[in-house]
Amino acid sequence: MQVVLIGVGQAGGKLAQAIAEFDYEMDLGAVTGALAVNTARADLQSLTIETQLIGQDRVKGHGVGGDNELGAEVMDADADQVMDALEGRITSQADAIVLVGGLGGGTGSGGMPVLARELKAVYDRPVYALGILPGRDEGSLYQVNAGRSLKTVLREADSTIMIDNDAWRSSDESLQAGFDTINQRVARRIGLLLATGERIGEGTAETVVDASDLINTLRRGELAAVGYATCEASEDAAENINAITSLARNAVLTGTSLPDAVDAQSALLVIAGEPQRIARKGVERARKWIEEETGSLDVRGGDFPMESDRLAAIVVLGGIERSRRVEEFLDRAREASEQTSASPADPTESFQDDRLDDLF
Ligand code: GDP
Repeated sequence: MQVVLIGVGQAGGKLAQAIAEFDYEMDLGAVTGALAVNTARADLQSLTIETQLIGQDRVKGHGVGGDNELGAEVMDADADQVMDALEGRITSQADAIVLVGGLGGGTGSGGMPVLARELKAVYDRPVYALGILPGRDEGSLYQVNAGRSLKTVLREADSTIMIDNDAWRSSDESLQAGFDTINQRVARRIGLLLATGERIGEGTAETVVDASDLINTLRRGELAAVGYATCEASEDAAENINAITSLARNAVLTGTSLPDAVDAQSALLVIAGEPQRIARKGVERARKWIEEETGSLDVRGGDFPMESDRLAAIVVLGGIERSRRVEEFLDRAREASEQTSASPADPTESFQDDRLDDLF
């Protein structure tokens, strides 16, 4: 799939750059453009991708702090500057537009849903959001911001891929120290996922996965997660049947961007590696296992030819909004919201819950 990436806020800009760099270094050809948008000048200065500063009249290049309502207002006022910066970049080649941002901060949290709305009004392309969920140890402001931002971005974007900052961090590192590692992991996983269907390397895939497989998988629900696992592989495909089934299991059970999210409406399994190492029987068994595990009958599968002596599984789970992990996060956000505001509680279901206000 060919995409234009837009990073909003500090985390968004760093991640957009990391994904674009991975795509370039691996010669994947999926990222056709990358833009970082921020209210903080200093955060943009450290980036090498294209940048757009917004909100200069309101915050003078100093950022919005953790105020995501201000982040949303600034994006609302200056969206035309971002649209101008994108002019001519979202060509007919682009299959989708992907927004990236931290849900817990200010600029990304508030700006991403507004920009999703603006982009959808102009482009007839799917707009996806890659939302970074704050870690459990981050303060209540982050949790409330993330809850409200998520609720709003789900409404505006076609699908939101959630990445929990606790999911891909090394256990011995603090969250701050671990950002570079997390960003590299996100770049590899999301970079490979986006490149699905873009032909690279020698061999051809036996069962081709193309952009429409990913689009159709994401279409089945509002929230999605991505799983990833890799292992050494024999040169003989017949010896890799079990390896492929355990790869899929590891990707879903331990390698996912949103741990414990296994109830899904749809899924896509991509096995990356040299075609002669990929066992058809293994891919088929792995696909069946995902059907059983997720309770979905809409599970697509295929290969991604790549030069490597290893195999990797990339699994997208679409429509995970009913998962325990999502409920757990929403509880955390609602609880924090009640502690920080006196707004009346009105418990209803999930995102309909009025205890988490929409941003706009
Ligand atoms: P903004 O610039 O106002 O949008 O705020 P940030 O992008 O700093 O958003 C804060 C949230 O993003 C917090 O939950 C942080 O944990 C997370 N965050 C900040 N920087 C990074 C980063 O480089 N990588 C990742 N994965 N998360 C980050």
